[in-house]
Formats: sequence, C-alpha cells, structure tokens
Amino acid sequence: MKLPFQNLHKQYLSIKEDIDIAIEETISNSSFVRGKAVDKFEESFSKLIGVKNTISCGNGTDALYIAMKQLGVSSGDEVIVPAHSWISTSETVTQAGGVPIFCDIDNETFTIDVNKIEEKITKNTVGIIPVHLFGQSANMSSIMKIADKYNLWVLEDCAQAILAKHKNKMIGTFGDAATFSFYPGKNLGAMGDAGAIITNNDSLASSMASYARHGGLMKGSHEIEGINSRMDGIQASILNVKLQHIEKWTIRRREVADVLLKKLDGLHGLKLPSTDEHNEHVWHLFVIETNTRDDLRKYLDEKGISTVINYPVALPFLEAYRRFNHLPSDFPIAHKKQSRILSLPLFPEIEDYEIEYLIDTLKNYFT
Ligand SMILES: *Cc1c(COP(=O)(O)O)cnc(C)c1O
Repeated sequence: MKLPFQNLHKQYLSIKEDIDIAIEETISNSSFVRGKAVDKFEESFSKLIGVKNTISCGNGTDALYIAMKQLGVSSGDEVIVPAHSWISTSETVTQAGGVPIFCDIDNETFTIDVNKIEEKITKNTVGIIPVHLFGQSANMSSIMKIADKYNLWVLEDCAQAILAKHKNKMIGTFGDAATFSFYPGKNLGAMGDAGAIITNNDSLASSMASYARHGGLMKGSHEIEGINSRMDGIQASILNVKLQHIEKWTIRRREVADVLLKKLDGLHGLKLPSTDEHNEHVWHLFVIETNTRDDLRKYLDEKGISTVINYPVALPFLEAYRRFNHLPSDFPIAHKKQSRILSLPLFPEIEDYEIEYLIDTLKNYFT
C-alpha cells in the first residue's frame, strides 16, 4: 500500500468541474493579473476571517515583507521571531532591513515561548512575529500583553493555520496585521503561488496595497517606490472555489487528528502532538516526536508511507544564520526538536482505511 503525504490531485478531482469552469472563465475574460476574481477573493476572504481588509499578493513570503515594510522596520531594528519556523518568517525581517532575533519555542505547542520573549527585548526591538505553527495558535493573549507593554507591533504569520482560533477568536485578528500563504500544500492552496495580508487598520491596508503595487494604487501616480506583488486571476478563481470547502476540509482534518490521537495514545517512545486548552487546532501538520526519528522514517517509507520533516534544522542553526554564532544551548527546545520531529500524512481526502493502515504500522513499530 502507498500512502502519500498529501494528495492534491485527489482534492482537484473532488471539485474538478468548478475549478475547470473558473479557470476557463478567467482565460475568456483575459483577467490574468488582479481583476474581478481577485476582488471577489479579497472580499470573501475578509468575510471568512471577519476582518476589514484583505490585500492579496504574490505569495506568503511577499506578504510578510510588504506588511513589515509598512509596519516599520529601519536599519538595525530588531524583530522577535520563533526559533522554529519556515525561513520566510526570518528572512523577510532581513529583507526589510531589520535583524531577526530568535526566541525559543514552547515544548508542547511548538509556538514561540511567551516566557522567553521579554528577555529578548532591547531598545532596538520594534515588533514580534508569532507563527501559528502546524495549525495551532501561538499564545496570542500573552503576546499582545507584552507588545502593549513595550509598544511593539505584532504581525501574525498565519501561513499554516487558516481558521485556527485562540480563546474563541480567529487568528490573524489579534495583531496589527497578519499574513497568509496559499502555496498549493497549505490548508487553503492555490495551483501556484499566492498570498495575502489582512488588517483592520484602513490606513495600514492602503499603504500595504500601494507598496505591493509599485507604490501607487492609481496608474501613473507613485507616492513611493514599491514592489510588484500581485495575485493572478487564475489563482484567485481557484481559491474562490476552494474557499467554499475550507470549513468542511478543516473539520475533516480535525476528525482525522482525533482518530490518530485516540488510537496512538500510550505507545511507548512516541510523543503525540498536544493542543493548548485555549486553542482550536486546524492540523496543517500532525507532528510526532520520537528518539528514533530517522529509523522510524525509514520503516514507514518501507511500508509505503510518506513523511516529511518540518523542519530538519531550526532557524538559528541554519547556514544562512551562521553570522549570529548561535549555540544549541541558546535555543534548547528548538534544538532538541529538530532531530525528534516527524510529520505524518494528514489531509482531508485521506480514506479511513488509509488512517487505519497508518495506525497499525505505527503500532507495529512501537510495540
Ligand atoms: C509557507 C509559509 C510561509 C511562506 O509562504 P510562501 O507562500 O511559500 O511564500 C511563511 N511562513 C510559514 C510559517 C509558512 O509555512
């Protein structure tokens, strides 16, 4: 039996008719960059999250960069980011002219450890980027308290956690702005690159939109120099179809996670992912931990089960950040995790018999 890590083709087949019509329509209209489908997406996305403004853009990395340029980062400014994330979170700080300051993560949730943020704050700190990693919210109530106390902006990286909640409030609505990625493998994925920024602050929204469109919202008027980061019409038309399914897909992800958590409970040597009591998880990734990660991965591979490591090296220890000379003891949790974590297949289209096979195979390994 072969169990892929995810199955985007199966998802396409389940909504093929609507997707094909949407793409054809966009081609017929020749609205290839921005256009009606993009306007519709921005409107629907704002409604889905419950926020005033959505600014679509080229991808989730651009979204972080654009947002940060408008929130304010000048040369030498420090931005606090979690030590465990995808590199977009930290590389965009550097791109924007700032310095990424890593903060260790919480042992249970993999999100930034709120007890270690204050010791990272200096007179140069301007903002915090919490990442809602694997589909679970960071501790936003504590983060907002710290940000208020030190007058810092907060930019939420929601790339992995669309529709996740903290204390019954949608993620992306806590900070000054938040970013999303619609990379194909994300919970809401396009068929190419796409991203968005959301904010309730109207003037921030218009400056972000302007910056993403060459520094001017009207043709020929450029108040500033900007960049070119736009959503394609075809991607927007695909996302408009998928938006109608995202809530149902999220429910299925939770259902699959619940089965895995229940049936794998108590296996010796296996640490299952945990959800903070204040959070509603959307299970972008189901990440287990074990001392024998590489051996387990090989075993699963031999049994036809694909897995992924998100991520094999924590941010401070990447070659890209060698200039900081960080030591494992600076970020003990992030360092410990990198050799123990393994992401199992979890996607809305997974069949019940595939889940059973995954469970049986893991039980065989751990007993
Ligand atoms: C995917 C991802 C991004 C970047 O999104 P792209 O659309 O690939 O540029 C940023 N942050 C996190 C945490 C992500 O998982």
